This record gives sequence, C-alpha cells and structure tokens, in this order.
Amino acid sequence: MTLTDLPFPGSLRERGESKGELPTSLVDRFGRVHRDLRISLTDRCSLRCTYCMPAEGVPWIAKDNLLSTDELVRVAAVAAGLGITEVRLTGGEPLLRRDVVDVVRRMAAIPVRRSSADGGGVSGPRHDMLEVSITTNGLRLAELAPALRDAGLARVNISIDTLRRDRFAELTRRDRLDDVLAGIDASIAAGFAPIKLNAVPMRGVNDDEFADLVRFAVERGAELRFIEQMPLDAGHTWSRAEMVTGEEILGVLSREFALEPVGERGSSPAEVFSIDGGPATVGVIASVTAPFCGACDRVRLTADGQVRNCLFARTEDDLVPILRGGGSDEDLARVLARSIAVKRAGHGIDEPGFLQPSRPMSAIGG
Ligand code: SAM
Ligand code: SF4
Repeated sequence: MTLTDLPFPGSLRERGESKGELPTSLVDRFGRVHRDLRISLTDRCSLRCTYCMPAEGVPWIAKDNLLSTDELVRVAAVAAGLGITEVRLTGGEPLLRRDVVDVVRRMAAIPVRRSSADGGGVSGPRHDMLEVSITTNGLRLAELAPALRDAGLARVNISIDTLRRDRFAELTRRDRLDDVLAGIDASIAAGFAPIKLNAVPMRGVNDDEFADLVRFAVERGAELRFIEQMPLDAGHTWSRAEMVTGEEILGVLSREFALEPVGERGSSPAEVFSIDGGPATVGVIASVTAPFCGACDRVRLTADGQVRNCLFARTEDDLVPILRGGGSDEDLARVLARSIAVKRAGHGIDEPGFLQPSRPMSAIGG
C-alpha cells in the first residue's frame, strides 16, 4: 500500500472526499481553517536555553535526513495550494541553515491560492505570495538582515529573555547577548518594522526584568511578547506550579504601565495591550493558562519532514517517503489534509493523562 492508498479519516470521508478527490483546503473537524505553516529549518542551535535544550544539546537529526531546499519549497508550494498563506521559518536556530536566504527567496515567490471559498476569512493584509517570516535567536541577524529583507522576508521575531549579560550567559549557556542586540539593531536598520521580541518569563530568572524588557522594546519601536513557558523542554523538568502565568505578568506590568486591551485576538495567540495610551503595545501569549487552541490555524513541518498538527501532537505524518520515493504533489496534499483532519481540539496540558511530546521544542519548531 502506498501513502496515496491510505484511506482518509472519517471527517474527510463524511464531507464526501475520497482518495480519488483532492483536498483543496486544510479544514479540521472543528471547522478550523489552517493558514499558517511553521517550518523548522534545522534542529541545531547556537544557544542552549535552559527551558529548551540541555547543555550537551540533543541527538541531532542526521544531515541526510534534513529536508533539502527543493523539498522544503515543494512542501510550502503544496501547502499554499491548500490555503496556507503564511510560512514561519523556525527551528532550532533557522539562521544556522546555510541556504536560509535562498529558502526565503524561493518561498516568498510562491503564489497563494485564494478562492471564493476563503470567504474573506483571511485576516490581515492580502498578499499574493506566501508571506514568509522568521523566529530567530538573532545571533546571525547582524550579518543576514539586509539579505533576508532583500529576499522578501516579511517579518522578524527575535527571542530575548534578559538584558543582563551575565544572566543571558547563564540562561542560554553562551555569552552572546551582544550579538542578539546587534541583530535587533540590524533588523530595524534593514527596515523590518515593527519587529517582535519574544521573552519567556521564568521565576527567579528574569522575573525582575519584565518592565525593563518592555521599555527596551518600546524604545526600539518593537512589540515585546511574553510567552508562558510550556512543557517542551528536552529535560522534561517543566512544572505548572513553577511557571509564571500571563496573569502574573500583567499584574507586574500594570504597576508600571497603563495597559488597555487592543483589538480582537482572532487567530493570533497573543493578547495585545496598548502601553500608556499607545501606540506602543505589549503582547502576552498565555498558551498554558488561556489556550488559543479553538482558533488555532497552524500546522508544522519538522526539519526531517514530519507533519505535526499541534506543538503537543504525539503522532506525526511522514512526508519523506513521498518526497524521496517519487510521490506526487497530490500525495503530499493528501497527507497534509489527513493530518489536519485528525487534529485534536486542544493541547490538553491540563488534562489528567497529558504526556509531553517526545520531541523537544527545538526539534519541533517553535
Ligand atoms: N531559536 C529560535 C528562537 O529562539 O527564537 C527559534 C526556535 S525557538 C524554539 C522559538 C521560540 O520558542 C523562542 O521564542 C523560544 O523562546 C520559545 N521557546 C522555546 N522553548 C520554550 C518553552 N518550553 N516554552 C515556551 N516557549 C519556548
Ligand atoms: Fe535555541 Fe531557540 Fe531553543 Fe534557545 S529557544 S535553545 S535559541 S532553539
């Protein structure tokens, strides 16, 4: 039996689709339309953030098993044909990949399919090509920001959890804060605006810096987004009791700034607040305490070609036999649609039987 012969799951069959009919969109059984494809370019990283990777790293994906540029672009094009409008490159550290500028250039030239069935449900500006963005630790941005902009990269998110050099070195196990700061400056200089800065709040680590991080972002015209720490660390040491909640962050920030909720959340995971009357804003992504699963429009592709329908998925769909076995684009489309069709309602972190996925965040693509 080839992958093409595999039967569709019930929900697709109920909608009248069979193996003979091609999926045209990525809609799950809860009606969630998927627009956002997160692609991990590599599981390797130049930092070792304690909440993500152990000091010694993790067993890396073998080089031969990493998808090639052509394979990545092919999957992105098939996904665009199924209604994906945005691709976010991540990792691991996506800028470690030597062909990253080429990947951006080729993906940003992929036309997106917008049919009448889209019904205006596309939020944000309309683009005729895939919108390509990146989440990075910023270490190589000083060098790469202009080339990435030139290649058509639309947006940049840079992770920065602390502004203190000694603390950064301890938290990431690398003394590279200056490189991140240079990367932020270079991105702004290259014209990426507004950039977003991601920070994971950690008790006893950076919980005295929340307001400083916000001021740092505001001074640069950037939006800081606090992301609740999730159970995705390689060491499986996450504890619900220990994590800093979105509510706590807002409590701390409210003592320093006047915060007002801004706009509708839509499919965005962040709740956004204006700071002191705006226009500056700060976001809180309360993935654990206020999950946004009901509006999730994301699907993920790991660097070794596995489709994951959720960060916390315990199963994956392998595209490699199709990509490397002479399969067709239609075969790829079917596997993508099948993965979305069986997506669960939510991540289930608070459910009694919750099990952390075996892949850490760095190997999934955050
Ligand atoms: N290396 C890049 C970076 O750090 O931006 C991209 C990959 S990283 C996995 C993507 C984002 O996930 C970063 O903002 C990082 O802080 C966040 N992250 C990693 N582990 C996390 C965890 N356990 N909980 C919440 N966020 C996490
Ligand atoms: Fe690397 Fe990003 Fe994980 Fe830090 S969060 S170890 S920068 S992949």
